[in-house]
Amino acid sequence: MRETRTTCPYCGVGCGVLASRREDGAVSVRGDPEHPSNFGRLCSKGSALGETAGLEERLLHPEIGGRRASWDEALDLVAATFGRAIAEHGPDAVAIYGSGQLLTEDYYVANKLMKGFVGSANIDTNSRLCMASAVAGHRRAFGADTVPGTYEDLELADLVVLVGSNLAWCHPVLYQRLAAAKQSRPGMRVVLVDPRRTMTADIADLHLAIAPDGDVALFNGLLAHLAETGAVDRAFVAAHTTGFAGALAAAGRAAPGEVARAAGLAAGDVAAFFALFAGTERVVTVFSQGVNQSSIGTDKVNAIINCHLATGRIGRPGMGPFSVTGQPNAMGGREVGGLANMLAAHMDIEDEAARARVARFWKAPRMARKAGLKAVEMFRAVADGRIKALWIMATNPVDSLPDASAVEAALAACPFVVVSDASARTDTIRRAHIRLPAAAWGEKDGTVTNSERRISRQRAFLPPPGEVRPDWAIVCEVARRMGHGAAFAYASPGEIFAEHAALSAFENGGERDFDIGGLAGLPPGGYDALAPVQWPLPAGAAPADRRFFAEGGFYTADRKGRFVAVAGAAPARTTPDFPLVLNTGRIRDQWHTMTRTAKSPRLSQHLAEPFVEIHPDDARRCGLGEADIAEIESPHGTVLLRVLVTRRQRPRSLFVPMHWTDQLAASARIGRLAPPETDPVSGQPALKHVAVRARRFPAAAFGFAVLAERPEGLDTDYWALARCAGGWRCEFAMAGARDWAAFATRLLGGDAGMLTYLDRAGGRARFARFEGERLLGAIFVAPGPVAVSREWAAEQLAASHPDRSARLLVLSGRPGAGGADRGPTVCVCFGIGANQIAAAGRAGHRSVKAIGEALQAGTNCGSCRAEIAAILAGLVPEAAE
Ligand code: SF4
Repeated sequence: MRETRTTCPYCGVGCGVLASRREDGAVSVRGDPEHPSNFGRLCSKGSALGETAGLEERLLHPEIGGRRASWDEALDLVAATFGRAIAEHGPDAVAIYGSGQLLTEDYYVANKLMKGFVGSANIDTNSRLCMASAVAGHRRAFGADTVPGTYEDLELADLVVLVGSNLAWCHPVLYQRLAAAKQSRPGMRVVLVDPRRTMTADIADLHLAIAPDGDVALFNGLLAHLAETGAVDRAFVAAHTTGFAGALAAAGRAAPGEVARAAGLAAGDVAAFFALFAGTERVVTVFSQGVNQSSIGTDKVNAIINCHLATGRIGRPGMGPFSVTGQPNAMGGREVGGLANMLAAHMDIEDEAARARVARFWKAPRMARKAGLKAVEMFRAVADGRIKALWIMATNPVDSLPDASAVEAALAACPFVVVSDASARTDTIRRAHIRLPAAAWGEKDGTVTNSERRISRQRAFLPPPGEVRPDWAIVCEVARRMGHGAAFAYASPGEIFAEHAALSAFENGGERDFDIGGLAGLPPGGYDALAPVQWPLPAGAAPADRRFFAEGGFYTADRKGRFVAVAGAAPARTTPDFPLVLNTGRIRDQWHTMTRTAKSPRLSQHLAEPFVEIHPDDARRCGLGEADIAEIESPHGTVLLRVLVTRRQRPRSLFVPMHWTDQLAASARIGRLAPPETDPVSGQPALKHVAVRARRFPAAAFGFAVLAERPEGLDTDYWALARCAGGWRCEFAMAGARDWAAFATRLLGGDAGMLTYLDRAGGRARFARFEGERLLGAIFVAPGPVAVSREWAAEQLAASHPDRSARLLVLSGRPGAGGADRGPTVCVCFGIGANQIAAAGRAGHRSVKAIGEALQAGTNCGSCRAEIAAILAGLVPEAAE
């Protein structure tokens, strides 16, 4: 098998992958030991990439109005309709909504088409939901969207502060690098600032369970403390920055008691953090969506950067503020200017000289003259009819944007919606008039940039199935049909990359941070062979150090860094009617709206249904018990979620995962709950601070089913589907009882071969239907949360059941004598459950290493090591089901 060097398509760590395709079509992957981001490591999601490369649920042909169409017909219609909308209503009547999943080359041509040839900057991206506040904070402080440091800095630091970042689950390989560094240098300290005690707390010496949006108060207090204790680097501040006095005045007082009150923390913890930060030279502050997804996100970013500028701890080994991006190519999108308020190559759309420069370079006939509509504004303009034609690429705004029901209604009312996607089954594509089949990971060729500015190649190793095309080729075909063929006559992504690199260097005498001119004139084969490389990379000699700002040299007019005076108090959103704060985030084994990761049976086993984490005191107040179904309601909508009662959750706050959609659950689209409220500077929605209330859904019956075939049209109030090795597993609940025999007959496709257990008085029922030795499905119903060994029951779909006793065992829902209930899967690589780990712990294997030796758990991708540690520490119940 020939291995192809490529890059993982999930998070912003940007791990190198060696991928190959066997003769039977199966895909296998392993970490690339030579890639400098991961050195051979992969997390659970990356390790399971092979399971997600199948053609199930792929869009393979263009469609117009639900019927199959030719490419020519579909592209002509897109170009004609966009052209007509522009001619009749002006360029701002059309828009593109892209994605951090796009490759840089895809992004580049989409941005060029809109900003240089359509004449509108109405091109925004789901990266607006991810890191727009980091971009805005960087630009305010540095004059450019520059990430100063490298991953290595996390390993070299003596103190790593993680703010609003569940690194263990959201950037797992970077977390593993940090955990390994801490293990080899026990003196290193890690502080976690997060309202939740996430799995990242496993390596934290101090966890500050901050109140929602309390970050500005904390870092302002820190700035004041640094000034009071003489920790400010006066020479650096004087030589390389402006605005220190104003920022310090705005920061207020440093008294730990006051800061603690404002940030919802204990004064002793605040004092300990301040002393640690002030007394440690090598400090890296990592921040991600917990900081960015806020109505004061940009201020939070600047409050953090202020502390690093004040101490001069920036751009040197082991020091600096560090934004880690959520998506695989959020950085590449920023580089090409794929945000409505950017131009291209880190140039500013509001800068007339920059617009003229780019117009010269592109030979653009119709440059956009002002910033376009940011994501939330863009869909508002779709709703009120200002946008007549919209093209959505590789993303699912019906699920991910705030006020998601309004977004769906806007698409339903929009005269012309184009969706190009690899998946045929998303909540967004069902609203499309035109569906364009796009190439998926494994079929795509181009580049991505990770969080440390490292450009890596994504290389195709699978043939394009059906009629799919790469996104860049689709955009170029539409551009050609709109009359711009000469400017979009690229024969390959390599040609696009060369132009992108040349633009970065065009009239750039060191005034712009983004310069990869050294990659503009690669020799033949150079693009194909391109090894992972960090920018800046100007033509000529490469800089000795790829960190920024150790000696100043910011990208402002006077080349000085800017302190930004921020005084943002945490917004007060809760009311007596909506007294709880809802926070959202990722879980370990799923990615975004699950169009890919949910294809993997093993990734689907870790957390198989949408849930809400709630503190025991709140659960009691809301009348919620463990495994109940909760109704979570905001003024914008309602969702139904399984209850997980845990002290990891801060009182008065709830946590829900962001991933579930209408494709896999009855009512779990969290975007429905969030108001369309954004940060005034960055336009990023405040997805982590939503006022809600919670109550028990009055379920009269709970059920669990394993099914060989995917059920369609489930008519229960609550349901959630997840793949398992032999089919599907399904949780359900409903307010009223049913004729369970009829329910089972419908769900299992008939009653021949059915075994039944009915306890009408107790409200319990069990069914298992067989075809020969094969289990077609089993259903377990009870008046309360069903006690069934779920993993074992799911395995029975792939097992053989030769005799009646084996079949009756399925009806029991438990392994028989001699079998053991593994409990919920923790280690997906080796299928090890929580009960097995707890049992091994009780048997004396009391460390993660010892569990690995006994069970192999945690010895492959390592993503579950923090959970193993938590189980051993008694923090996680043996069976969370
Ligand atoms: Fe992919 Fe995991 Fe690496 Fe992120 S950490 S790039 S999801 S393998």
